[in-house]
Amino acid sequence: MSFSFTQASQQAWQWLESAAKFSETQDADVNGVTRCCATPQHRALLDELSQWMASAGMSVRMDNGANLIGHYASPEPNARTLLLGSHQDTVPNGGKYDGMMGVVLPLALVTYLHKNAITLPFHIDVVAFSDEEGTRFSSTLLGSKVLAGTFNSSMLQDSDSEGISLGEALRSFGCDPDRISEDCYRPEDVIAFLEVHIEQGPQLQQSNLPIGAVSAITGIERHEITVKGVAGHAGTVPMHMRHDALVGAAEIIRLVDSRCKGTDELVGVVGKIENMPNGVNVIPQSTTLSIELRSPDDDIRRQARKRLLHDIDTSLNALNLGYDHRQTYEQAAVQCSTWLTDTLQSAIQDTRIEPHVLFSGAGHDGLAMAQLCDIGMLFVRCRDGVSHHPSEAIEPEDLTVALEVLLQTCQRLAKEPSLTLP
Ligand SMILES: [Zn+2]
Repeated sequence: MSFSFTQASQQAWQWLESAAKFSETQDADVNGVTRCCATPQHRALLDELSQWMASAGMSVRMDNGANLIGHYASPEPNARTLLLGSHQDTVPNGGKYDGMMGVVLPLALVTYLHKNAITLPFHIDVVAFSDEEGTRFSSTLLGSKVLAGTFNSSMLQDSDSEGISLGEALRSFGCDPDRISEDCYRPEDVIAFLEVHIEQGPQLQQSNLPIGAVSAITGIERHEITVKGVAGHAGTVPMHMRHDALVGAAEIIRLVDSRCKGTDELVGVVGKIENMPNGVNVIPQSTTLSIELRSPDDDIRRQARKRLLHDIDTSLNALNLGYDHRQTYEQAAVQCSTWLTDTLQSAIQDTRIEPHVLFSGAGHDGLAMAQLCDIGMLFVRCRDGVSHHPSEAIEPEDLTVALEVLLQTCQRLAKEPSLTLP
């Protein structure tokens, strides 16, 4: 082979280091990477990425949603397309690998294929999604919604902290937002969307595994509860006569924690709390708290919610406390396609690594892409599960393993004419 696997993996590593320099911050190792949609940093990255894509034998285009797409053509006429990719944007002071790793790894794969003159019976499109995190416009999953054809043009009115609208920003970035609807893929042309992403959690590290296949992207629901008590002097009201809202809130926190600890595939948190009047010598009158539940299985999550709300009601009644409750958010889980997860598992086995399946507790572009096509995800171990932070880290050897799994996956797909032909 003229261009080895190790070389391709080293190339990916160098690209990750280079990409981290396109940031509002100086010194990514200390301050992390801040790169938002339709900014000079985004432009500089796309200029560089375009060159990397071209050198891998790809034709390159930017769509009207500021996604950069490299196309590696199959010699087969009427071939379908496998979509690979991840997001180029970051959270403020984010890590070097969240998103970008899923862009450069497929690019390293195509480089490997190109330099070794390996062709496939399907096209590969590598996408650097413009905006997944929503850091600048709160418009999460912008890039993937454009490709899936679910972009709602009302999002163009969303504005950043300086009052620049998404529509204006895209225009000055060289896009025509009025033509975004033309940029979606046709479902019949697409085999699937496959994203490689860092795990952003500690499970793979704990299992001593470099990679794992993802079963589903979590569903999420959020609630707000205000516990209503009676304020009073902390020294004069006898204990048995108190209606202490914060005691009720403490009970809710305990109930959420124990319900989630006692249920497989369910996580939850009370992450936000406001206590009134919040004085050292005042019995709390009202306490408002958030509850968030996540599960890859919507039935598990809804069952847990039902039991939790019942238990909260019982507990607060026993404490003689009233309360208001409202559900503020719900997003269903998205299942990764079983055939693709199975293929990933087999590909992982091909690399002599024990297959491991886990669910994603974080949202990803696959949430939007699932509206277009079957989706799959491959997680790569990250150090101590740290993400969205400058100290986010991965091992170079894990990158090599992920690259090999990507190649094995493509080779397995190539043997399935029912998938690759229109
Ligand atoms: Zn991400």
